[in-house]
Amino acid sequence: MIKQIVFIVSFFITLLVFGYTARNYIRFFRLTGRGFPVKNIGKRIVLTLKVAFGQTKILRRPLIGLLHAFVFWGFCVILIGSIEMTIDGLFATEKALKLLGVIHDIIMASGDLFAVVVLLAILVFLFRRLFMHVKRFRGIEMQKISHFDANIALTLILILMVTLIGMNTFYIRSMAAERMPVYGYYPLSNLLSGIFNMSPEMSVIIYQSCWWSHILIIFVFANYLPYSKHFHVFMSVPNVFLSRMESLGKLDIMESITREVKIMMNPDSAYSTPDETGAVSGRFGILDIEDVTWKNYLDSLSCTECGRCTSACPANLTGKKLSPRKIIMDVRARMKEKGPQMIRQGKEYSDQKTLIRDYITEEELWACTLCNACAQECPVNIYHPAFIVGMRRYLVMEESAAPGELNAIFSNIENNGAPWQFSHEDRLLWAEGTGLNLPVMAEVFARGEKPEYLFWVGSAGAFDDRYKNVTRAFVKVLNHLNTNFAVLGTEEISSGDVARRSGNEMLFQMQALMIIERLNNYGVDKILTCDPHIYNTFKNEYPDLGGNFKVVHHSQFLKEQIKLGNLKFSSGLFRDKIITYHDPCYLGRANNEYESPRFVLAALLARKTEMNRNRSYALCCGAGGGQMFKEAEQGEKEVFIERTEEALRTGADIITTACPYCMTMLTDGLKYKNLEASVKNYDIAELVALELGL
Ligand code: SF4
Ligand code: SF4
Repeated sequence: MIKQIVFIVSFFITLLVFGYTARNYIRFFRLTGRGFPVKNIGKRIVLTLKVAFGQTKILRRPLIGLLHAFVFWGFCVILIGSIEMTIDGLFATEKALKLLGVIHDIIMASGDLFAVVVLLAILVFLFRRLFMHVKRFRGIEMQKISHFDANIALTLILILMVTLIGMNTFYIRSMAAERMPVYGYYPLSNLLSGIFNMSPEMSVIIYQSCWWSHILIIFVFANYLPYSKHFHVFMSVPNVFLSRMESLGKLDIMESITREVKIMMNPDSAYSTPDETGAVSGRFGILDIEDVTWKNYLDSLSCTECGRCTSACPANLTGKKLSPRKIIMDVRARMKEKGPQMIRQGKEYSDQKTLIRDYITEEELWACTLCNACAQECPVNIYHPAFIVGMRRYLVMEESAAPGELNAIFSNIENNGAPWQFSHEDRLLWAEGTGLNLPVMAEVFARGEKPEYLFWVGSAGAFDDRYKNVTRAFVKVLNHLNTNFAVLGTEEISSGDVARRSGNEMLFQMQALMIIERLNNYGVDKILTCDPHIYNTFKNEYPDLGGNFKVVHHSQFLKEQIKLGNLKFSSGLFRDKIITYHDPCYLGRANNEYESPRFVLAALLARKTEMNRNRSYALCCGAGGGQMFKEAEQGEKEVFIERTEEALRTGADIITTACPYCMTMLTDGLKYKNLEASVKNYDIAELVALELGL
């Protein structure tokens, strides 16, 4: 009876403290913006089973990932045992779940075995943290308190496992001493119980001590976690369930901007849709904590501080100040600092500080290449680009504070329809004198015909000296295949992708709405492009603005033509060449297209070799997120040099890719290394054209 009363009192104190903490967090959530509506429950459940319970992202690094996965799975099983202990404590029962029969046996047996596995894993984690210099545990954001916190939590888990094993072992001994039945099966503790030789009374005392220590540590732990980095123990599963369901390459639409742009383009439209992602402050983008959405804040609470994001970040790897983990931790810290005062004094409260500048510098924000490697690696599905682009949006649209080079490309896009200072009248100059059959949409349309594909050349394809060769090569292949296509020619303008990723959502939407109207007027269904950035923005982002097209990347088109038998390679031109392929971020990670380019290379009979970091692990070339048009932030190295060096380590004769930005960066990398004469850099379209002798 006394045991029951003590338990009930402890349990309700735990609930009270936990309830108080939860109430504070709910009030913080109320300070945030709306975020996206939660739909697709079925898909979310599948995702949660895969990423949270299947631990698929943790297992991307198999060795240490497996240990983490065992800890998670162990926790799930042991949690059921803790629920049973709570029922026993509240209702003075003995092994309340024994009613489940054999299922109870299985749960107890798994918990018993997992306790040892978790214990060993925690010892490894502690050893790594205390005695090994693991790079991803370091960084300016990893203050002493972060390490201390991690070690406290690991130690508590260690004690929990020791008390669990002790409890099981002495439960068996004490039951045996009292000639009582043992409920549940405990394979490991059964063995251990035979080792100890002590009086029945002592067995009962140790059993009770372990039982109480175990459950009380759980109660303490449950209330410590919300104030520690291990809050992810509670938050990670809900955060995965509430993940963005879109491709990594898609940025969220700002409907407040859509309203403005539509009114600007057509004052009669008076478009009035509520802003789904808008923040309570009503400003564009993220300046401070009141501008983040509930999902951004949930992300920040779910961060395990594991550093997987930062260790994959090309900017961080090359010595820039940006660390995606720091961005997430800063959001959490800023809410902790400002949130309580906002609750007390209202949402207008100002402490003369802001997230941008007082926590996160502009230098960090502009160093991002938006390669999505951080989001790809994050085991709890945090989407870092939303924070970075959100803050860039604020800097660009509220303060006009983009780096000078980006302001120049915004003007160029507004005035000429291209990031470079070329007139749109010159958009077909690349084809002059080539003798290529190049149907232009306006003329085709005037004849009452409709091509199967609109070939979107892109600004780089039309104006970049190196990439013009790729455009020509691909059109030669299209002509060779008698493809029914047309180009927009002088009617083509920038897709707005680079403006969007640089934070200029207004300019992006203006470009997109103009293009969508033009393409709809021509009745365009299918768009073919060599540029993964254009592919991504047309495929994933234009539908938000009413542009619904089937978009095909040239690598996919070439693969299809090879499969159909329309493209046959027999010259063996590349048979003796070693070729390595660089995955463009916006084809690979953003859109999961890794195999089409490799299929084309295999058909060319080339000797393929892979870089260490390939497919979803591939390192960015350094050009994305507007970096192509500006000086890189200060660091130890340029990203393109790091990637070129990695490509060169394969010993390849040819570095191939399928993106104009990657081509520029790798070409620059080869020039930097003085190797452009001996190692060639080609787009896959050029390889196909060469093989065909076109
Ligand atoms: S998107 Fe790429 S560059 Fe930007 S923070 Fe993430 S990993 Fe780093
Ligand atoms: S954001 Fe994700 S990957 Fe980065 S430290 Fe946090 S949990 Fe780890």
